[in-house]
Amino acid sequence: MAGGEVMAERGLLIVLSGPSGVGKGTVREAIFKDEATTFEYSISMTTRKPRVGEKDGVDYYFRTREVFEEAIAAGRMLEYAEYVGNYYGTPLDYVEEKLASGVDIFLEIEVQGALQVREKMPEGIFIFLTPPDLAELKNRIVGRGTESMAVVEERMETAKKEIEMMSSYDYAVVNDKVSHAVAKIKGIVETEHLKTERVIHRYQKMLEGLK
Ligand code: 5GP
Repeated sequence: MAGGEVMAERGLLIVLSGPSGVGKGTVREAIFKDEATTFEYSISMTTRKPRVGEKDGVDYYFRTREVFEEAIAAGRMLEYAEYVGNYYGTPLDYVEEKLASGVDIFLEIEVQGALQVREKMPEGIFIFLTPPDLAELKNRIVGRGTESMAVVEERMETAKKEIEMMSSYDYAVVNDKVSHAVAKIKGIVETEHLKTERVIHRYQKMLEGLK
């Protein structure tokens, strides 16, 4: 580049998703409580009401349906979904600006939204948070042998759906213990930064500089 200017390397887009009730929010909170975390959280927009203690612009941007729908129509959402009667979505501008300036951005979103991000930004890193009992499927489903057929079938169905969902992701992290899941997620981000395709151009530039 002219004049030895250094262009910021694009940040990584990290997407954490998984089935409802798996503990995505708890894992996300633990990640951002840790001051050593280097990536930034993208605050979502929602039409649901704030819960006690939640603050606008910190936990979510709490907005009306009207405002949310305007943002959708104007193409200002990277993704959005309706979940239990409310809209949830990721404002696009913030994500774009941060990634362009070299900051890693972390999204914690439900599965329909994650699939939309995968379509629009396939270069993202998609992490599926897995319920611990999915790893012990057999025990859980037929284990004690005391469950009714209906219960067994329902569990099979849920497990099937969860495994299908997992196939659209790059990584599966079991949420057996929050601290373990957090460590694994951080490890994934670190490793992704070491991929040769992400670092080789720096070395190539150095070589050119020596010529
Ligand atoms: P809660 O109402 O408990 O804060 O969140 C409900 C669900 O919405 C969680 O599964 C959470 O991951 C998801 N969610 C939060 N923000 C977003 C978002 O921006 N987009 C999508 N698609 N889901 C979100």
